[in-house]
Formats: sequence, C-alpha cells, structure tokens
Amino acid sequence: MGEAALIDGKGFAAALRARIGTLAGDFAQATGRRPGLAVVLVGDDPASQVYVGAKGRACEEAGIASFEHRLPAETSEAELLTLVERLNRDPEVDGILVQMPLPGGLDEQAVIAAISPDKDVDGFHVINAGRLSVGQTGFVPCTPLGCLMLLKDRLGDLSGLDAVVIGRSNIVGKPMAQLLTDANATVTVAHSRTRNLADVVRRADIVVAAVGRPEMVRADWIKPGATVIDVGINRLPPAEGKEKGRLVGDVAFAEASAVAGAITPVPGGVGPMTIAVLLRNTLVAAHSHAGLEPPEGL
Ligand code: NAD
Repeated sequence: MGEAALIDGKGFAAALRARIGTLAGDFAQATGRRPGLAVVLVGDDPASQVYVGAKGRACEEAGIASFEHRLPAETSEAELLTLVERLNRDPEVDGILVQMPLPGGLDEQAVIAAISPDKDVDGFHVINAGRLSVGQTGFVPCTPLGCLMLLKDRLGDLSGLDAVVIGRSNIVGKPMAQLLTDANATVTVAHSRTRNLADVVRRADIVVAAVGRPEMVRADWIKPGATVIDVGINRLPPAEGKEKGRLVGDVAFAEASAVAGAITPVPGGVGPMTIAVLLRNTLVAAHSHAGLEPPEGL
C-alpha cells in the first residue's frame, strides 16, 4: 500500500495570508484606511480566548485592523446587541465576528441575526446561508470554504467526483455539501443516523469528516486513492505524566494514510485555513464597502 500525499493546509494558509497582506496594503493605498475586523468575545472560555487572540494577531500581520471587544460573562443580550448595532454602523469595521459559544442565557441566533449580512464574515447569518443555498454571492463559512480551496488545489476540477461529507452542522457540514454541489461533485451528506456509514464513505473520491469524534473514520472505510479532508479537532485524554492530551482529527490518520491518495493532518491541515479565509472574507467585505471590485482569484 502507498503513502498518501500530505495536504499542507498550514503552508497553503500562510501563502494565502501573505497574498491577503499585499492586497490589504493595496486597499489601504487606494482608500486611506485598512480593512477592519471586529471580534467580540463574551466571557472567559479558555479555548475562545485562544481563538480570539490568534485571529487578532493574524489580522495585524496581514495589515487588517483588529478591533477586539472583550465583555464579561454577565453581559446581557441587550448590551451585546447594542454593541453589534454600533459595529454595524462603524465605517472602520468591515467584518464582525462574535465568538461562539456564547455563555448560557445569550441567544446565539438572535446575535447572529443582528449582524449586518454585509459584515457577516463568518457567513452564519440566514441571509448568507440562503445566498449560498440559491447560488448568489455572499459570505461562506470559513472552514468549509477553506476545505474547498484545499480540494481544488489538490484535484483541480471536482466535476463528477463522488463526495461524502460526514456531519451536517450549519457551520461545516451543510455549507460544505453546498460548495461541493456547486463545484459539480455528486454529494452525499452522512450524519449520526446514517446506516452503514463505512459503506457510504467507501464510495467516495472525496471524504470530508466534520463530526467531532476522535479517529472515527478508519482505513478500511476509505476508497484507495481518495482525498481525505479531516475537519475534526479532538483532544485525547492526557497520557500518563503529561498535562495535555494529543490533538487528533476525526480520521485515524496513520492507518488512513496508507490507503488515501491525499490527506490533511491534524493539526496543520484544515485548522489554519479557517483564519486565513476569515481574513479573505474581511478583505472582500472591505472592497465591497469601498465600492471596489473584489480582489481577483481569492
Ligand atoms: P457539530 O457537533 O455541530 O456537528 C457534528 C455532526 O456530526 C452532526 O451533524 C452529527 O449528525 C454528526 N455525527 C455525530 N456523530 C456521528 C456519527 N457517529 N456518525 C456520523 N455522523 C455523526 O460539530 P461541528 O461544529 O460541525 O464540528 C465538527 C468537528 O469539526 C469538531 O471536531 C470541531 O471541533 C471541528 N471544527 C474544526 C474547525 C476548524 O477550524 N478546523 C472549525 C469548526 C469545527
């Protein structure tokens, strides 16, 4: 059996961020201001703090202004909605991201609905979900768009390929299935109620796993030569004497590598793409707000 090619999401994302940096510089030259992203964090969830910090740093490195709003866990929904309204009106802010999950008591759907769809760089607003669903231009959630970029880079034209997306969440599985359909793949969405999941996955030329179950997809589920995109980020329990467990994906990487044609590692595969696409969406929003054509080929 062969050894799958490694899909280098980390490298791809770094190249994308560098391009965005150049284009953000051009934008600032043309308009006299940098593109701007507002990130709102409510409460002190440690993982969310790490994500928000990483997003802020990535913005600054790419020449995008980062406006961080850290609010206490006791923040009321009315206060949060007032902030979102203010950011909607702020001409320096092109993109608004409210870090999820929100502390209990805050209605995530109400907060997403309050974000202006033309600043919704996460692509979570129903208007943007609807646009994706009917094939109109809008903001697409960052993680699945990043997966599509990696697939196109690896495979070129996806027409007629059989794709299986495992997971049907609004932020990954569903938009992923729509993007693959738009790219002319034949798409199956598998989920927690799918029967004979291994048999379904075995048909696929492209497997996208977005489940949240460590190493669920085994080598014998994968058609030889298939391209495997592993969205899952799962932390295993710590080994003895260690403080933190290892990060693994939804695919049993080592054994799957012996069968797949190409595979993303975890970490270093899909994860870095998510932030790079967030910057990309912010840059596109900035162009649209300034009345400029969107930058080409992004
Ligand atoms: P989710 O919990 O919202 O959805 C999980 C989906 O998996 C559901 O649709 C469910 O039907 C399906 N599922 C659950 N058990 C299953 C089973 N036994 N067999 C088949 N399908 C099953 O999760 P999500 O937000 O879509 O995230 C999925 C994974 O991707 C998580 O590990 C998450 O951490 C990771 N993630 C990574 C990034 C990134 O930047 N790389 C971004 C978002 C999510």
